[in-house]
Amino acid sequence: MSESASHTLERQDFDELFGALARRGYTVVGPTVRDQAIVYEEIASSAELPIGWTDEQEAGHYRLRRREDAALFGYNVGPHSWKRYQLPPEVRLWRARRDADGGLTELEPEPRTAPRYAFLGARSCELHAMGILDRVLLGGAHTDPADRARREDVLVIAVQCAQAGNTCFCSSMGTGPTAESGFDIALTEVLEQDRHYFVLEVGSERGGELLGELRHAPAGQHERAAASAAHDRAAAQMGRELDVTDIRDLLYRNLENPRWEEVAERCLSCGNCTMVCPTCFCTSVEDVTDLAGEHVERHQRWDSCFTVDYSHIHGGSVRASTRSRYRQWMTHKLATWIDQFGSSGCVGCGRCIAWCPVGIDITEEARAIRDSEAVGDARP
Ligand code: SF4
Ligand code: SF4
Repeated sequence: MSESASHTLERQDFDELFGALARRGYTVVGPTVRDQAIVYEEIASSAELPIGWTDEQEAGHYRLRRREDAALFGYNVGPHSWKRYQLPPEVRLWRARRDADGGLTELEPEPRTAPRYAFLGARSCELHAMGILDRVLLGGAHTDPADRARREDVLVIAVQCAQAGNTCFCSSMGTGPTAESGFDIALTEVLEQDRHYFVLEVGSERGGELLGELRHAPAGQHERAAASAAHDRAAAQMGRELDVTDIRDLLYRNLENPRWEEVAERCLSCGNCTMVCPTCFCTSVEDVTDLAGEHVERHQRWDSCFTVDYSHIHGGSVRASTRSRYRQWMTHKLATWIDQFGSSGCVGCGRCIAWCPVGIDITEEARAIRDSEAVGDARP
């Protein structure tokens, strides 16, 4: 942690952050408990944060557990990601009415506005995921002004992980656990016997201006060491590993590996992995009318490469089997994404492992394919 930019904020002063953000016109989105999970929603004070909760994650398993302290950010990641705000699950694109002659009125596009968001609690892997999704949505020649409007002026307050979950493997993907850029302010939460405080690192000019509105003090050697110890603890606890050596070519060499059949016997093709993934971006559009046929709207909705319809082209689906759909998803994440967008599509957050109803684990599948080459099982 940089010594020059480290400050402390005491727990009792934490709500000043909400006041300062509200004065600047920000709508704060942060973690809160709903339906027995930690999700991202609009929040107005620290009372709405998941105080004293942690999450327990394993393949096909997610549970909230009480902590023995009152940590505000003592969990890893839940089913939501910031993708909900970069690419909302459903948006109306336009609407129209029947005109007096029975035709359609001019299409009325949706206003291209978005609230001025402050994201509170983004983890290092999530900052990387936001960057990856930005490249997908905003990096091409033809971008949607609505996607751009949603990302303009977003302020990011990151939280450094002080623990890692059993399904985390950000260290393998080079995306964490400690955030080094991509934030306006980064917080490390420290709980000591008689003191609960945050060590703050400023990442931008507006982060510095925001800090100026909070009661803070320079971080001393003890506080900086406590923050570093928290970062080291998270790195040491990493629950899983994924060997990414030559992974793109490894997967390209193994498109006919029998392991795809084995995983397809378990995979339900439910698409949960794509819904929770912070970088999966497939969408489809749907037109709806009212019963009288007077009003029509077009909606864009999240879709998934696991649905048969998604790969339906004239004559049928080009990925009719679960084997081909799982292979498409995993090879896109770890191989073709690199050719398409210049980086892996996976940040190692582990959500797809925890939220897969049958506990399919992308790290285990990649390992099985790698190991199969060692025993000569690959079918080029
Ligand atoms: S593929 Fe899985 S581990 Fe990788 S970013 Fe998506 S949800 Fe996270
Ligand atoms: S891998 Fe798991 S979450 Fe993904 S489609 Fe198959 S069963 Fe569903």
